[in-house]
Amino acid sequence: MEVNPIHSLIIEYNTDFPNKIYFCLIDNFKDLMGIFINISCERIGRNFFELLRYIKKADIDIGLRVTKITECCAKKLKEIGIRAIMFNVNNISEKKRETSTTFTDSILQNVEKNIKICQKYKIPVEITTILTKKNIGEIEKLIEFCLNREVVNLIIQRPVILATTSYGYEYLDPITYRKFLTFLLQKMNEVDGKMLIVLSHFPHKILLAREIGKETYYSKIAKYGGCSAGLISCAITKDGNVVPCLPLREVIAGNIIGENFKDIWENSPVFKLLRNRENLKGKCGKCKYKNLCGGCRAEAYYAFGDLLEEDPTCWL
Ligand code: SF4
Repeated sequence: MEVNPIHSLIIEYNTDFPNKIYFCLIDNFKDLMGIFINISCERIGRNFFELLRYIKKADIDIGLRVTKITECCAKKLKEIGIRAIMFNVNNISEKKRETSTTFTDSILQNVEKNIKICQKYKIPVEITTILTKKNIGEIEKLIEFCLNREVVNLIIQRPVILATTSYGYEYLDPITYRKFLTFLLQKMNEVDGKMLIVLSHFPHKILLAREIGKETYYSKIAKYGGCSAGLISCAITKDGNVVPCLPLREVIAGNIIGENFKDIWENSPVFKLLRNRENLKGKCGKCKYKNLCGGCRAEAYYAFGDLLEEDPTCWL
């Protein structure tokens, strides 16, 4: 199976690792289009700025997801030229028990403070959220919040992102998904030109877009698409593990400490399995859209314990 270059890499930055480990990743993948880095504000320091400058010099887009921002930090990030700063409006904790997914006033006020600092330094802001049963009815409120604060992108992710946190795996049934995606595609039209609503980890959105005639130019010509995990993207956890995507953090293809990242990308059995959609099982395996969609591999993994099983959230 053909090995594609990595287009998009997500990194949970670890301040204990020497920067040269991250430099090596950049040097090996000149075709990288974007790097998204998750880091908590307290850990942003000299080494981190050095890494950002290195990435920027390689002409790679940088998106940052931080918990909060200070004026001093925003000023430096602006000088470096990062593409955008992203804030999560869910209160997510991997270990503690206070994970909350609703958009409480205190969470929104806190995000608003961060937005103001970024905007003072003319840094575009993105908001990310994780859809859950608890907040599905509040998404419209969040869209309004973002529109009123000139947020450039609102990124909505599916609840499987929370599978490894104290929140656990939450399954949204196919009918709910279809209804929600239909609503969002309409909303996307309404906010067109003012803000972009991005659906992350929703590979079957392309089918609905086709059905209602809202395809993008790319989706019209695409023969291959949907879930990009292991095909053109992957993630590196804070332990250095290379995984197909952050929800699949238990599915380890290798580790950047002591192993060659390029070798992991090209030869790991996990990535080889994901690259060949003929390996898919159940209804995804028989589906005529499998090359365009491929189903969410994380949903399959948490629902059936098998990375290659069908996506249980699909309405087809
Ligand atoms: S069956 Fe699987 S591949 Fe086909 S549209 Fe549904 S999720 Fe995508």
